[in-house]
Amino acid sequence: MQLSKLAQHLGGSAIRAMYNEALKMEDTISFTVGEPDFITPKPIIDEACRCWEQGMTHYTPNAGVLKLRQAIAGFHKDDLNPDPESQIMVSCGATEAIQMALFTLVDPGDEVILVTPAWPNYFGQIGMAGAVMKIVPAYEENNFVPDPDDIKRAIGPKTKAIILNSPSNPTGAVIDRATCRALADILRDSDIFIIADEIYSRLVYDEEGYTSITSFDGMIEKTVYISGFSKMFAMTGWRLGYAISRPDIIRNMTKLHENGASCLPAPSQIAAVVGLQQCLPEIENMRRSYHARRDLICSLINATPGLSIRPPKGAFYAFTNAKELCRATGLNSMELCMDLLKKTGVVTVPGSGFGDIGEGYVRITYATSEANIKEGFARIQDYVRGYGL
Ligand code: PLP
Repeated sequence: MQLSKLAQHLGGSAIRAMYNEALKMEDTISFTVGEPDFITPKPIIDEACRCWEQGMTHYTPNAGVLKLRQAIAGFHKDDLNPDPESQIMVSCGATEAIQMALFTLVDPGDEVILVTPAWPNYFGQIGMAGAVMKIVPAYEENNFVPDPDDIKRAIGPKTKAIILNSPSNPTGAVIDRATCRALADILRDSDIFIIADEIYSRLVYDEEGYTSITSFDGMIEKTVYISGFSKMFAMTGWRLGYAISRPDIIRNMTKLHENGASCLPAPSQIAAVVGLQQCLPEIENMRRSYHARRDLICSLINATPGLSIRPPKGAFYAFTNAKELCRATGLNSMELCMDLLKKTGVVTVPGSGFGDIGEGYVRITYATSEANIKEGFARIQDYVRGYGL
């Protein structure tokens, strides 16, 4: 019997490929998976334990426990100001919310615009919705911020949605205010929905801060806003994300979610309320650490022959230009990452895994300790010297 075409054609991500390869080795330094090295703040863990002990072991409403939706609404009262009962859906990570948004907004054959380099799951998710991906590359010369004119040119009669991810995984790019405004002007009167994946919005490092496309006139109504607890609260394993949008969109997303994940564990949801209401100082401490690590890693990258980077403004990824090192070694970025892993035990992700425009780059995650960053770069610099750079 033949398996479905979807199952046969869906590729795995380069991130997991490197991660799996590294599992076969010892003494590795991992700059691979985009996950905070911090443990979830203690008050959140304590609250979850209390909930389990009290017997909260049952199903919850599909859209999420109302108390959590109210807390999310409170967290967003100054920007999106959603109604907790009709405009919020709690999901199995932001990952599931994005998938449900695509299932709700697009039909097979519709086009979805995606800015690359992009988080590889978007490729699979657009494919699972049967939609056609319309790629718009963003370039290092423009700090990996997309050019609104390129997006305008990509729009066609079949375009139904655009995914905007700011701050970006893998580039750390933050879409600046002027670009957000230009994009809003292009999209406002179109029939195109925006899936605004802003899961890293609290992790920004430069003075200009961060602008959401939803802050411009008429945009909230056209947007499915995606966020979650994984990155902000160091809660990747809890699998808690959420979507905020118009009531009709949330109602339909929830219908689909009922058939997929159904609902999330009550203790995770109740504990997340404690996170939103009591743990903002912990979030700020983690952000400060990432900021210091960003500065450290950028100075080490720029001190390494064959590598360079413009400091990313957000998230925790250094999308490093390794074109000179690729030339010196004669390797493409996938081969380079494998060679580096085999010879030094340092695990990175090839830029080509984030779209063709990523060839010649390497993604280095700095959600790891300063000691690991220093040790990893000591090994990388030895490796580079071995190629005469
Ligand atoms: N969106 C982006 C851009 C990500 O990088 C990730 C995880 O790496 C997610 C969404 C998914 O996060 P979650 O753990 O909430 O599913």
